Amino acid sequence: MSASKTLLSLTFEALHRSGVAEALRPWSQGLGVIFCMHSVQPDSSAADGFAPNAGLTSTPEFLDAALTMLRHAGYEFLSLDDALVRINEGRGTSPFAVFTLDDGYRDNLIHALPVFERHACPFTVYVTPGFVEASTEMWWLALERIIASATGRIEAGAVAADLDGSVARKWAAWNVLAPVVQEMPEHDQRQWIRGIAARFGFDLAALCREQIMSWNEVRKLAAHPLATIGAHTLNHFAVSRLPEEEARREIVLSGKSLERELGKAVHHFAYPYGNVAHAGARDFRLCAEAGYASAVTTRMGTVYAEHGKHLLALPRVMVSSKYAQTRWLKVLASGVPGRMNNLGRKLNVG
Ligand SMILES: [Zn+2]
Repeated sequence: MSASKTLLSLTFEALHRSGVAEALRPWSQGLGVIFCMHSVQPDSSAADGFAPNAGLTSTPEFLDAALTMLRHAGYEFLSLDDALVRINEGRGTSPFAVFTLDDGYRDNLIHALPVFERHACPFTVYVTPGFVEASTEMWWLALERIIASATGRIEAGAVAADLDGSVARKWAAWNVLAPVVQEMPEHDQRQWIRGIAARFGFDLAALCREQIMSWNEVRKLAAHPLATIGAHTLNHFAVSRLPEEEARREIVLSGKSLERELGKAVHHFAYPYGNVAHAGARDFRLCAEAGYASAVTTRMGTVYAEHGKHLLALPRVMVSSKYAQTRWLKVLASGVPGRMNNLGRKLNVG
């Protein structure tokens, strides 16, 4: 367990056991919570434990336990559209929980849908058309796969890592390379991963086809009464790092592309990566101008009536194997970690 994961678990366990989260809940909870997930699949960790993106995955069993726990705790499962009504009304008799899943993983259809059906829980999947069409790069997963099997030197900017097949070198390489690649300007980042993929014979398009739903599968999901499909840019770019015209194109055309393929209107958007460094005030404005009814970030927090004026900058709470205990989800949904994160404020929308 990493140091940050240990600290996280200690913090959540302390908030749970001390009763602090429950005591502060009336003050901090707000109207409800929007959870953010990615992949949902049975545990398939690498035999050697090298799984740096494991934090993007939840098991179906975890999702099932989380939904059971939230229902018992009095949460009402709402679609995004119904949650917007609740936010605009500014009050509700019970707190709501909205489930959202980013990127369009095929396992959402195979493994998450049956769990959501069992609990009659609506959910939204934010789809990146470039992943569906295998025309853009899931760089973080590609980098993990390349490091997992490559030997030799990989350079990125001013850093380099040497791989010899040992698990220690794999982790060292990930820890050195991933932060540098994450921070590269968007087009440089993709050029870099294409270069590395070509060198090691890694098929980036095949990775998209393996991981992401086809258009037929997205259409199948879109036809389900519990499912809503939202947009997630054309190329999974951090929009705040793009010039305005390009950011606008990514925001507007991803929705249009989905509408064309699905034959229905798309009203909701999620900012890729979604934190302060990846989406800001200009991008919230671009989403408003594009006509979206809502857009979600990954700025941590619960939803308050005050968000009614900031529906293009909604906070979410990340759910993944990092929060292995469902009781920690209850702590997250209490709003206390979000308020701590936002220095006590309800809103973090600037
Ligand atoms: Zn994403």
